[in-house]
Amino acid sequence: MSKYDVIVIGGGPGGYVASIRCAQLGLKTACVEGRDTLGGTCLNVGCIPSKALLHASHQLHEAEHNFEKMGLIAKTPSVDWAKMQNYKSETIEANTKGIEFLFKKNKIEHLKGWASISGEGKVQINEKTFEANNIVIASGSEPSTIPNVKIDEKIIVSSTGALSLPKIPKTMTVIGAGVIGLELGSVYARLGTKVTILEYLNHITPGMDTEVQKTFQRILKKQDISFIMGAAVQSATKSKSKGKVQYKLNKDDSAHEIESDVILVATGRKPNTHGLGLEALDIKLNDRGHIITNASWETTLPNIYAIGDVIEGPMLAHKAEDEGMAVAEQIAGKSGHVNYQVIPSVIYTAPEVASVGLTEEQAKENNRSIKVGKFMFMGNGRAKANFAADGFVKIIADKDTDRILGAHIIGPAAGDLIHELCVAMEFGASAEDLALTCHAHPTYSEAIREAALACGTGAIHA
Ligand code: NAD
Repeated sequence: MSKYDVIVIGGGPGGYVASIRCAQLGLKTACVEGRDTLGGTCLNVGCIPSKALLHASHQLHEAEHNFEKMGLIAKTPSVDWAKMQNYKSETIEANTKGIEFLFKKNKIEHLKGWASISGEGKVQINEKTFEANNIVIASGSEPSTIPNVKIDEKIIVSSTGALSLPKIPKTMTVIGAGVIGLELGSVYARLGTKVTILEYLNHITPGMDTEVQKTFQRILKKQDISFIMGAAVQSATKSKSKGKVQYKLNKDDSAHEIESDVILVATGRKPNTHGLGLEALDIKLNDRGHIITNASWETTLPNIYAIGDVIEGPMLAHKAEDEGMAVAEQIAGKSGHVNYQVIPSVIYTAPEVASVGLTEEQAKENNRSIKVGKFMFMGNGRAKANFAADGFVKIIADKDTDRILGAHIIGPAAGDLIHELCVAMEFGASAEDLALTCHAHPTYSEAIREAALACGTGAIHA
């Protein structure tokens, strides 16, 4: 059996991108994947299927709430859940097949099975040993739960089970008001489920700009999602067809219980390192279970690298992809690089929420002297025409240099708009650079220019 230059373990966004880039750089590459299809969590049970359900349920919301206002008279829309699930599956298939095609095109060998590392340069799959000069671990992450809450993927579900429920539940309790809880909670709320979210903290989406958190929660409440804040979940129990969550309120330690058809556990994800054989090697993990790497993504063993959710940093597909490209370049003797200061994060609710760089609070904690320019979508003609005028763009710039330090958007197409700010930050742009850039009218992007103007002499439509 011939030796590979690189074997990548894991075919998710980190692993498949690393494989493609390695092959493009002339390295003989194989990628091992234990699932039947390539694409990892993101394509199979994460980003892509959830976006299909978010898109479908958003269309329903538009039909129910905005069609008539625009003079569109349709029959009352209803949901065919089996068909919607089918649409979701077809979307997954189209995407995973796309990666298969890219592997063939780039002559990457797709090794099927669960891999472990049996020694330096040795990867074992189903009793067979494969050899490589370099190994990249891109094994991703898996849902984590909390003590006394046991996921059965039927009544007490993780995000994976929540994407494939046999029917739309009448009631759902979500544990955790993070990204997964809010995205999937939104899907079911739009489909008619009574959704209640229990959150330990007194605010949603930890780490996000406080002003955005408040606006976001207000908007979600208007969409009939209920929140119980400062609620520490203690346990969950289930009967044949219902589940109960027991929780205590932090403010007075009082004990409560809530019953629902389904309980979604959305309390975070943990790095997936089991079964890789790391214990027998000298590959070290940190105290949170992430594989420790140096600035070139090399683990504590030479020529074994790790990228994506299995190492420190935000658990985001695009962060893993960037690391995938960079590690391939490192292995090929080039200088791969990831700018961790400019990694956008997006929540795909309606409206979308997106951010990059420092929040106002982080800037102040770091004693940065800043100025803040904010523009409400209410002043944006396109947003008003599209019933999407809730929310704002907020730009944080250095007070002295005017350099953009961070940006936060809640509003229509925020997940796409944020990239103008990412590019600006990559180029070290000032808020004035954006303010002086002509933006087409009428577009949502004008709100970015207005926020940039608000960092200086003032927005026009405010
Ligand atoms: P999260 O860390 O974003 O949020 C978990 C929430 O659960 C927190 O708000 C936390 O305070 C709360 N919580 C924890 N224990 C609790 C308890 N006992 N009682 C009540 N509340 C409790 O986790 P997530 O939403 O599960 O997402 C996991 C990862 O997946 C994240 O890293 C996220 O970035 C990633 N992800 C990203 C996207 C996206 O980019 N759109 C989508 C899905 C997932």
